[in-house]
Amino acid sequence: MRHLPQVECCTGKSGDSIRNLPRMSRQLYVQQFARRLEPKVPKNTATTIAGWIVDLNVEFVISRPRKSKLGDFRPPHQNKPARISVNADLNPYNFLITTVHEFAHLGCFLKHGRSVLPHGAEWKKIYVEMLRPFLTHSVFPESLASAVRTHISRPVASSCSCPVLSKALVRFDANPGQLLDELQPGEVFAFRDKLYRVIEKRRTRFLCHQLSDGRKFLISGRAKVQAETAAST
Ligand SMILES: [Zn+2]
Repeated sequence: MRHLPQVECCTGKSGDSIRNLPRMSRQLYVQQFARRLEPKVPKNTATTIAGWIVDLNVEFVISRPRKSKLGDFRPPHQNKPARISVNADLNPYNFLITTVHEFAHLGCFLKHGRSVLPHGAEWKKIYVEMLRPFLTHSVFPESLASAVRTHISRPVASSCSCPVLSKALVRFDANPGQLLDELQPGEVFAFRDKLYRVIEKRRTRFLCHQLSDGRKFLISGRAKVQAETAAST
């Protein structure tokens, strides 16, 4: 029996080539992946992504949440397939955009090898080409679609680095919170289980005062925080 590239976990064998399977088998593989992806992605998008996983022979991992990144890509290496992982806790729209981001890395690798920058013009072109069809098929609610349009007009390395998109995306999180960018000096917020007060904005980061021990930190304006009400300060 063939082993499938893994979705949901990274144990077990993976990466047997499935490109030469008869057509029905490909469809079955796509259906299986699509079923596993459906809870994670917006409606009507799972089959497209499952098709990429199967056709490009990717080990696709829905990863435990990582603070340092939303997803990552590892090119194929020594008979091992390309590997893409995406954080399990992303809201469906962010999961989709991150997935497209990582598949664009694979597309760029297949076309240009290692000769181009990871988020250079070649990657941007492929990323936009892969993301644009989701816009034309009403996948995103209108409030988010306009942010995605703005994003693809000048794509940056990650949705977190695009202020318009990250602000629009955070509203769909299960626990929405706010971006630190939206707070004013003097406001208090919770971030990674600690309370801070905003002192001032410095370029893209904010100088903040940690309330428990008085230390000062620079925190990215893109950080998702929970603003505290005045009473709790
Ligand atoms: Zn990237």
